[in-house]
Amino acid sequence: ASATSRTAHWIQADRDRLIHPNLPADRQDRIVMVEGNGCRVRDSTGRSYLDAAAVLGMMQVGHGRSELAEVAAAQMNALECFHTWELMSNDKAVELAVRLAELAPAGLERVFFTSGGAEGNEVALRMARYFHHRAGRPERTWVLSRKSAYHGIGYGSGSVSGLPVYHEGFGPTMPDVHHLTAPDPYQLQQYGEEGVTDFCLRELRETIERIGPGRIAAMIGEPVMSVGGAVVPPADYWPRVAELLRQHGILLIFDEVVTGYGRTGHWFAAEHFGVTPDIMVTAKGLTSGYVPHGAVLVSDEVTEMITRNGFPIGFTYTGHPTACAVALANIDLIDHENMLENATKTGAYLAQRLAGLQDLPVVGEVRQLGLMLGIELVADKQTRTPLPTGTAPVATALREEAGIILRGNPRALLINPPLVLSRDEADELAEGLYAVLQRVNADGSV
Ligand code: PLP
Repeated sequence: ASATSRTAHWIQADRDRLIHPNLPADRQDRIVMVEGNGCRVRDSTGRSYLDAAAVLGMMQVGHGRSELAEVAAAQMNALECFHTWELMSNDKAVELAVRLAELAPAGLERVFFTSGGAEGNEVALRMARYFHHRAGRPERTWVLSRKSAYHGIGYGSGSVSGLPVYHEGFGPTMPDVHHLTAPDPYQLQQYGEEGVTDFCLRELRETIERIGPGRIAAMIGEPVMSVGGAVVPPADYWPRVAELLRQHGILLIFDEVVTGYGRTGHWFAAEHFGVTPDIMVTAKGLTSGYVPHGAVLVSDEVTEMITRNGFPIGFTYTGHPTACAVALANIDLIDHENMLENATKTGAYLAQRLAGLQDLPVVGEVRQLGLMLGIELVADKQTRTPLPTGTAPVATALREEAGIILRGNPRALLINPPLVLSRDEADELAEGLYAVLQRVNADGSV
């Protein structure tokens, strides 16, 4: 069959059979991806795109690395699947746990495996409550989170997420959750550059007093918010939050699902802020998405308390050897090919190329840390009001006109390319963004 008739078949069958996240039923069009290589993907009609989203912020090593396919095949031929429940283990899970303990900030040397980010956050929340329960403090059940946070769609991870769209219509959320203001300097301009952390710390202190420190298990946060808009907090935010939590015996959980494995130029974003959480959740870049996998890194203190009589929960795929083997090979590629350095250098280069966008009337701010960038789009620079349409029409125009794939939240375009992005590809991305963004109007139309 010709490419055209095969594509027509896939699109019709997709419409008839597939439930997509976030796609209204009356949308008829589809883009069917069939191939990838490096930072590029190709659809079933032969059109090539620059994947500036690294799929969903996870494809660190780029598409089409046959080394990872070979490792997966070899592992499937040896032992495709086993688990790490009770006293069972497997060689690849052990080797990966050792490697992760070496990479992680000192003090996070125990590893619990999941198959993704939401599962990791579910585990982290349970570990935090169970830690206090086992320590004789069962009344410590509250979890502090932030507005605009995204932690996944599980019951707990969805409840601590702070974007209203994930709550509306889904019935009661998990009890004992409080959402704080996100440390977003652009949206909190009234407090000035220096005042954002003071404001957030005052709110945190008042919240702890109101709920009662003896009732709070943990605070969870993305070190740099991803879905919430690539929001880089002021440098003193995390150190001061961590200190206050420590004073009150409240655990700190970092969700490094997006920021982990080099996205911001360090192995983990925690290193930027000089803060080590008690629990660190990772997924996505752990395997560059070649197979689904996640790892929760845990302090000795928490591990020892929760495992005394056996931590009672786990998943079917906990410690999956094929996923662990791919993760080990993926980490080697990131390491041997200096992708952290490329994230730092090419990220800075891209930010410099994009700085001029801020002269356009609809571009409020370009933010960047490593290869994690956000472009805040506004209807009005004075009031910092978002475009009434959100950023979706702009993302569509970028794809259709410039062949650039990226996603946006209601306020910001999000740029998370593979960590192998070249200067030429950064230039291509910058040129596409200039061409489209200079035609965006204050009503959001392009
Ligand atoms: N945490 C963060 C910061 C994320 O961005 C995501 C997904 O985008 C998740 C957690 C959820 O991960 P998953 O989709 O693998 O469950």
